[in-house]
Amino acid sequence: MKIDILIGVGIGVFAFLAVLGYNVFPVGLLLVTAFLVWKFVISRQILKTGNGVAISTTGVEFEDIGGQSVAKKELQEALDFLIYSDRMKALGIRPLKGILLSGPTGTGKTLLAKAAARYTNSAFLSVSGSEFVEMYAGVGAERVRGLFRRAREMVRKEKKTSAIIFIDEMDILGAKRGSNVSHHEYDQTLNQLLIEMDGLKADQGAHILVMAATNRPEALDPAILRPGRFDRQVKVDLPDKEGRLAILKIHTKNKPLAENVRLEEIAHETFGFSGAHLESVTNEAAILALREEANEISEHHLHEAVEKVMLGEKLDRKPTKEELRRIAIHESGHAMLAETVRPNSVSQVSIRSRGNALGYVRHYPKDDLYLYTQAMLEEQIMVALAGALAEEQILGTRSTGAAGDYEQALNLVETMLLAGMSPLGVTDVSRLNAEQREPVTKEILAELEERTMKIIKENRQSLLGITQILEVEETLSGEMLRSHLKTVA
Ligand code: ATP
Repeated sequence: MKIDILIGVGIGVFAFLAVLGYNVFPVGLLLVTAFLVWKFVISRQILKTGNGVAISTTGVEFEDIGGQSVAKKELQEALDFLIYSDRMKALGIRPLKGILLSGPTGTGKTLLAKAAARYTNSAFLSVSGSEFVEMYAGVGAERVRGLFRRAREMVRKEKKTSAIIFIDEMDILGAKRGSNVSHHEYDQTLNQLLIEMDGLKADQGAHILVMAATNRPEALDPAILRPGRFDRQVKVDLPDKEGRLAILKIHTKNKPLAENVRLEEIAHETFGFSGAHLESVTNEAAILALREEANEISEHHLHEAVEKVMLGEKLDRKPTKEELRRIAIHESGHAMLAETVRPNSVSQVSIRSRGNALGYVRHYPKDDLYLYTQAMLEEQIMVALAGALAEEQILGTRSTGAAGDYEQALNLVETMLLAGMSPLGVTDVSRLNAEQREPVTKEILAELEERTMKIIKENRQSLLGITQILEVEETLSGEMLRSHLKTVA
């Protein structure tokens, strides 16, 4: 659009100068040549990036995907439309045009699309929504056309009957129309996709199925989700414990595991991990074994790898003696409070720097819980506040080490507000402004600070006891922590 205006203005200026008697021909010729070169470069760019990555037969099968049994089943059912298309045609069922996979990042959406291509013996073409985003007008729409052209060509060349086009990051390409800053270009691209999808017919020789993935389905334009476009929506969630175990088994198949390794234990402590995280855990464990020149991966390599994926690499950063004492008090505060409100919940406490953390407490996840009561949320907030409050109680001051804890506490308070667990009761939180939220947030935090401080004061001796041990040992397992807590109590 902007370029059209520029061309118009340019022609006007040239005409004006020509009327005034200036020789505008050489400059004009130069500009026209530059414009043609620019156009050529862009069209090359379209060809280069606009057609995605093509794979004739993907190596991924549904068995290579751990967990996700519901998603796999739903997907396979939908794909049977493609396999038994003759039967569908006989019954007059319109062909399936689009499947939307939605869920958090790293949960296996791309793997599912690849497995779908293999299951249906389709050609596979993969692009990312961000590849359609260009500052040049018309490029995105041309890329969409090119994509479908290429899919048809692939089907013909490979003598297949169908192709799957996989569009990752669909929310970039398919955001609600009018919601982007340079929305005209985005809207044109999305419109083109909808036109192509509407034009898909089974009797065109090639059946094309569009599979799209997003982790923000709510951001998508409703037109995309209309029946006849993305007919099926398949949720791909974070794996549960069984799913995590299945994924760990898949990714350790090609790795020598020591006999003592209990993958169930690793699956238990990795609540909230995605498939990508779990793959990384097995890989990191193998790297750790290599570093130790071990021939097989032991359980401690896997535990260490979980920590690394969760918190980052161990750092050689050596805080001063005073800082180390403060960190030990802070972490002991978290650990002691966690054991008081939820006995046997700490799996490890450490004052060794890792990633961004100077020290950390790891908790055993309450297995795969999807609901939290008010009491649980309050306990979590108290555990988060306990680090800074322990510092205040023993050393008289707080430090900047608690910034992350406060962020966590504020997020939990927000969850309480949304769930109607605040003095405001059930309310539309999105309509509250900062002035209305602030006093409620403060009230909740002040009350929980008071309760936390009371526990810290009552257990001051235990706190000092663990601090001392932690300063010497640097890291304590949950069992060691609990036995020390018993002896110093
Ligand atoms: P994104 O939304 O970030 O594009 P995604 O959901 O498409 O992520 P994938 O690219 O499919 O995730 O997965 C990344 C990697 O994580 C895979 O190559 C695989 O190693 C591992 N992985 C993820 N989920 C699973 C699973 N369910 N089973 C086995 N491996 C998995």
